[in-house]
Amino acid sequence: MSTIAGIDLGTTFSAISILNSIGKPEILPNSDGERITPSAIFFDEENPDIIRVGIEAINSRYINSKRSVRWVKRHMGDNNYSVNIDGKNWTAVELSSLILKKLKQDASAEHGQIKDVVISVPAHFDEVRRKATMDAGKLAGLNVIGIINEPVAAALYYASTQTVSGKIMVYDLGGGTFDVTIMNVEGNNINIICSQGNHELGGIDFDKRIYEKIVECYKEQYKDSLINSDEDSAKYEDEAEDIKKTLSRREIAKKMIYGSSGNLRFEMTREDYEKSISDLLDQADMLIDIALEEANLSAKDIDKVLLVGGSTRMPVVQQRLKDKFGFAPEISVNVDECVALGAAIHAGLTLMSQDSTKVSAGIAGGLSSINLKDVCNHSYGTLCAPIDRETGQRIIANRVILSKNTVLPCQATQMFYTMEENQSEIEIIITQGEDADPRFVNRIAHKKLKLPKNRPAKCPIRVTYSYDLNQRMHCSFEDVESNKTLEVDLSLDEFSQLDEKQIEENSKDLAGFCVK
Ligand code: AMP
Repeated sequence: MSTIAGIDLGTTFSAISILNSIGKPEILPNSDGERITPSAIFFDEENPDIIRVGIEAINSRYINSKRSVRWVKRHMGDNNYSVNIDGKNWTAVELSSLILKKLKQDASAEHGQIKDVVISVPAHFDEVRRKATMDAGKLAGLNVIGIINEPVAAALYYASTQTVSGKIMVYDLGGGTFDVTIMNVEGNNINIICSQGNHELGGIDFDKRIYEKIVECYKEQYKDSLINSDEDSAKYEDEAEDIKKTLSRREIAKKMIYGSSGNLRFEMTREDYEKSISDLLDQADMLIDIALEEANLSAKDIDKVLLVGGSTRMPVVQQRLKDKFGFAPEISVNVDECVALGAAIHAGLTLMSQDSTKVSAGIAGGLSSINLKDVCNHSYGTLCAPIDRETGQRIIANRVILSKNTVLPCQATQMFYTMEENQSEIEIIITQGEDADPRFVNRIAHKKLKLPKNRPAKCPIRVTYSYDLNQRMHCSFEDVESNKTLEVDLSLDEFSQLDEKQIEENSKDLAGFCVK
């Protein structure tokens, strides 16, 4: 039986955990003995086949930042993003696979081959980003048996280690993303109600505010620029993060900044820092309000707030939550580790439901009482061309087929009709979003269904969308008369990055690189 693992693939840090013989998750330290690994990559200068991941990659940024990559998660699913190193364009999926490979390698060295994994993603990640994350896992040689939303993973771990009941809100503010999830928990029964989030709100945005202040102060004092190279940027980004962390412990942080025109004694108070990021935290507050509204709840209905993600260590975050809910948030679980720990529990549950012979009796016993009901995080639909009641003209509109927050697994069917006589094909556009106006939804797949010839208009097309427990969607479009069906598995979709053959080819390419 292979080792069952869960991976938190974070913007700034990643972590891996496995299920022990009695089904309890444990974090596996990396080869440096650290429980979390910086999600940073450095392409070795001397030996181009060697790629360094982790703390060494962070430190090497000061030497040559052009060969260094961080915060890849922000670019997941972006087909236009790539980093050129020695003539090769590295995509976000490939770069992420290097981080996963490092986690896998270090963990396998101690605990035997790691293969079956669940990888966590922010709750609001769309299908394309979820698929990109799964592809990265496959490229790293992992069997990705599922994807789990980060706050759900944290709640799974939390509920399995503490006695919890009531309405729980998970506030997950990490290095690059923010998620808020509301759930109903009764012992080991966890029912997700809804999630909201922003994948461009996190620790690196807070660091940026301090970085900008340092640069501004330097300019004021010396009338000269502090930043003269990418390496300078890398250095002062890290100084800014350090100041931010100090301000979580102390009221004032002081730092000597050594620039080319002279030294600057930089000081920042917690109060000033908190003011400088208040608009960002307001965005998080707004998302809490939207989530409460979606759940049909108010702040007084929430029994506990659970903190997840390194940025929740900031006192201002905890104070704002206390002001809003009237009680202090829960800080009893390790905010850096609980997502990976919960992902391992989910991996065990997933394997048990797929093939119980793959799970040892000890692990099955440890997980038997846990019951998770998750929901669909977005609405999914299709573009269609109904007749506008006012004008009598056809208009392009988005029609929702699967609604946001429907309990998983779920399936929904709707009938559509061909528009013209002798229509030879229909154009299918799968959407994500609620709005009827196509301008305000994401188009996540574009396909064509060929139709039999010589038919009248208004032939029925049955459209069925389903969403499985692993947060993946499948769609089918059936021409009812001919039974001709187009199946769209979003894992093979053209908007996503790779199909199985490409993954195999890419894996061969990447096998030539040594990840350290
Ligand atoms: P995560 O993605 O959960 O690993 O969170 C990483 C983020 O948490 C980074 O942006 C860190 O700078 C931030 N972080 C970690 N510790 C602290 C702290 N003590 N105060 C403020 N931010 C922190």
